[in-house]
Amino acid sequence: MSRHSIQRLTLGFDVKIPFTVLRGASEKPSVVIFAGVHGDEYEGVAALHRMAEELDPVRLTGTVTIAPVVNPQAFAAGLRRNPVDSVDLNRTFPGDPHGSVSSRLARLILDELLDGNDAMLSLHGWSKEALVMPYGEYPLHDSEAGRLSKACAYHLGFQFLHPYEWPEGVLGNSALEKGIAAVETEIGGQGTITPEGQALSRQIILRFLDFWKILPWEGAPLTVASSEVGHADCFAESAGLFHSALKIGDHVQAGAQLGTIRGLDGSLLQTITAPATGQVAILRTFASAQPGDRLVQLFFPRLLV
Ligand SMILES: [Zn+2]
Repeated sequence: MSRHSIQRLTLGFDVKIPFTVLRGASEKPSVVIFAGVHGDEYEGVAALHRMAEELDPVRLTGTVTIAPVVNPQAFAAGLRRNPVDSVDLNRTFPGDPHGSVSSRLARLILDELLDGNDAMLSLHGWSKEALVMPYGEYPLHDSEAGRLSKACAYHLGFQFLHPYEWPEGVLGNSALEKGIAAVETEIGGQGTITPEGQALSRQIILRFLDFWKILPWEGAPLTVASSEVGHADCFAESAGLFHSALKIGDHVQAGAQLGTIRGLDGSLLQTITAPATGQVAILRTFASAQPGDRLVQLFFPRLLV
């Protein structure tokens, strides 16, 4: 049983990806938990810092690798994307050892942190410009790893689960191609760390370890029945001031007014209306908007076919 804290120098210059390996009584099962894939999402980072201290290898069956900030340059800049190449790391996997900085970083994460594990959990939040209703994502992937990903997502205790066909370049897709189960989570936003976000993140991490039989769950039995959702987005068509009276979790009817964008002179440029009946799952809270910015995302029950 052991605990290794490692600072790995990467990419030939001063980019260090910190990670901790906690090895219990046996090597397997082994899982890796990531945060900080995007540089402006912090609940997962804080939760993993705490878990790396809290988890006692003596109590673990198997191995847990904790990597709290896998995109240090984006973190330092406080940006979603790496400022060096303006690339979204979570659209860059599996990467290329001879590509751009993000592409090389992606390959390093796969080779050094992901490979050889049974499962991965990647903790995300919404950007510093928005808030999200917490949910888990699992892949629509016809494979054993896909089925385990879904079962694992259901075990975590989220009220909302969103099955996805992850786009090319997402970390979880590279995991699935290696036969590694993958779940992504969305908790928090606005660049903040909150007591609620930390409590939920801790639960999600411990439920993940329970699912993989690495550390038994000792909390109260969960009573949450997860429901699967689909989503619809509203985007800004003009630059201006976005104003909405909505709150996360509000229920809205299709066609209801969700907010407005006004020009600098106060003129009404856009009225945002609900494209579906649903619940406010993502809400832009930063009032200055540019064309293409996501303003609102609604969740509605997923129709199972
Ligand atoms: Zn993210």
